[in-house]
Amino acid sequence: MIIKSAEFITSALDVSTCPASDLPEFAIIGRSNVGKSSLLNLLVGRKALARVSGTPGHTQMINLFLINERWTLVDLPGYGYAEAAKKIRQTFQPMISGYVTQRPSLARVFVLIDSRHTPQAIDLEFVQWLMSESVPMALVFTKADKVTPTKVQTNIGLFQQRMSEWCTEPPRVFITSAVKGVGRGELLSFIGSALPER
Ligand code: GDP
Repeated sequence: MIIKSAEFITSALDVSTCPASDLPEFAIIGRSNVGKSSLLNLLVGRKALARVSGTPGHTQMINLFLINERWTLVDLPGYGYAEAAKKIRQTFQPMISGYVTQRPSLARVFVLIDSRHTPQAIDLEFVQWLMSESVPMALVFTKADKVTPTKVQTNIGLFQQRMSEWCTEPPRVFITSAVKGVGRGELLSFIGSALPER
């Protein structure tokens, strides 16, 4: 897919204020510092996207961008537990849980995971929760240039092993490096193949 246009649509505080849309939405989420802004830049090659997404205030909002006038790229805030729910049960911030469970046009959530680390509880729990809510998702292991390919594969394998404890259909996995430009083609063709014919 060639990126011909990328325009900022709006920032929303919750799913109820996201503009109604018939276009498929692809959302990107991950913990802070996982490389989300760098991946947004890599994908659409527009510095302005990351600028909006990195502006104080906007980092805690749902940022929507119209790509090629055909699909929407959604930058979600980093996840953590809702304060009161920490010990009771897994509940992620209402803004995130509301968006991923109630947005009719949501086509896929890409969960970013730092490929340098062994599986982290919060990432595993977020992925498990998404699956329990039947949210369509894929995993994106970022910063692959920072460790050896073997280490990346080991960490992905460990993550998949943990997931196999509760998941029968493992999600699609992508490996990216914003520095080396790795993974851009795969991600864009995956998105492209999910778009309706024109
Ligand atoms: P965000 O907080 O998730 O938006 O993460 P950023 O995109 O701001 O990245 C956090 C830090 O990781 C920055 O210093 C980036 O330069 C660095 N970074 C992001 N992606 C990559 C990558 O693919 N390779 C390397 N080597 N560094 C990366």
